[in-house]
Amino acid sequence: MQIPTRLWIGGEWVDSDEGSTFPVRNPASGDVLAEVQEARAADVDRAVAAARAAFVASEWRDIGPHERSALLWRLADLIEANADELATIETHDNGKPYFEARRIDLPSVVENFRYFAGMADKIHGATIPVSGPFLNYTLREPVGVVGAIIPWNFPLSQAAWKVAPALACGNAVVLKPAEQTPLTALRLGELATQAGVPPGVLNVVPGFGETAGAALVRHPGVDAIAFTGSTPVGKTVMREASETLKKVSLELGGKSPNVVFADADLKAAVRGASTGIFYGKGEVCAAGSRILVERSIYDDFVGELASRAESMTVGDPMEKTTRLGAIVSEEQLERVLSYVEAGKSEGARLVTGGERTDVNGKGYFVTATVFADVESTMRIAQEEIFGPVAAVMPFEDVDDAIAKANDTIYGLAAGVWTRDVGKAHRFAREVQAGTVWINTYNRYDSASPFGGYKQSGFSRDLGYEAALDKYTQTKSVWVALDD
Ligand code: ADP
Repeated sequence: MQIPTRLWIGGEWVDSDEGSTFPVRNPASGDVLAEVQEARAADVDRAVAAARAAFVASEWRDIGPHERSALLWRLADLIEANADELATIETHDNGKPYFEARRIDLPSVVENFRYFAGMADKIHGATIPVSGPFLNYTLREPVGVVGAIIPWNFPLSQAAWKVAPALACGNAVVLKPAEQTPLTALRLGELATQAGVPPGVLNVVPGFGETAGAALVRHPGVDAIAFTGSTPVGKTVMREASETLKKVSLELGGKSPNVVFADADLKAAVRGASTGIFYGKGEVCAAGSRILVERSIYDDFVGELASRAESMTVGDPMEKTTRLGAIVSEEQLERVLSYVEAGKSEGARLVTGGERTDVNGKGYFVTATVFADVESTMRIAQEEIFGPVAAVMPFEDVDDAIAKANDTIYGLAAGVWTRDVGKAHRFAREVQAGTVWINTYNRYDSASPFGGYKQSGFSRDLGYEAALDKYTQTKSVWVALDD
């Protein structure tokens, strides 16, 4: 495993201007994996300059859509060829089970680059029938330099969600990974250059939010910010970006409802509710963290869910049997445990879990947690925990289910379990969420747009239309036809 420790700017490894570094830890042991060069404002400056130069240089601007497509495809091939190594780095950096990194994250990253490789030569404007003796047509042009800021839960996938469509549309990118998990993004920068992407088209600047992230958001040389992270930071990003009127896209937090009706396939619903909250340690923006269950099956359901939670083996993320890896950092572990305390003190019933645990006396682990009898007003029903903590509450009928599902500032995703087609589609129509899963949960595809309603943000990741919207701008060209 080759661990990158420097900044990737202009197609090469460089040290940070001030020479400062920060420790990146393996959350399964708490040990320092690497001291990584820390990007600050001066380094962001350098990266933006490199991106700007690459954006206007003929090697990228004049490359042509078919070759751009081929480059992205080559990058996908290189990611695939290095998948074992990338998944290993991801597991050590994030704490997720290797099984998830290798079998779920990596294939989806490869698919993502291939999907957007396919888009690169299918971007075009239109001819518009205007009044008068004129020809009017539109050009779809890249936005310019895109600053991408991503979180730590799916480090490489999140990088791919931003970088693949941005490059497909002909932009240059400065990517700031999360300070907890910068390693695979750095490798991605190196692989892009290896694939033939011109130097400076993709730069990676690991550093902290308040310094590197903020510098990128404020930088006058950045045309667009593509951000995924928490809702409070999203608000700051939008405020700061308004000074230079950047094009901003925000994919933020969630408190997604997973709604189970009494007429559902209960075995499937219990499984779906369990993976909906415990997959990825619950560190998933779309985690089904509020599980709403129809009153008549409520007690049985809570029992079944608790026994599934107890079967989630907590352990070394590199072990095949591990289903719940390490929480990403000590800080996040404390946060999760403080929500467990909040749940107890607010009067929710702790059915199972809620305990810190370890592997060989080390690491940041917590057992899969189920709270029942949760009220909508409680903090564990309203605030994003970003950990393996399920808040289960009963509901009476369809109206009550929809009202409770929507009783949140968030609107990222929602799940519904029922055999009644009409009920399912009514729920899908009335729930305020950017994604609705019917009799399934946590499904993603490069072709299907993903993003939030309400304070879960706006704009979409993935999908052709969403990428066009985010990473291109439209120019209208008028031609006089008479002399
Ligand atoms: P999370 O809860 O997932 O850590 P954050 O919103 O704190 O979410 O972080 C998501 C990303 O935003 C990270 O890359 C982080 O460094 C960055 N970030 C945090 N604060 C700021 C800020 N003020 N300006 C720009 N980026 C920031």
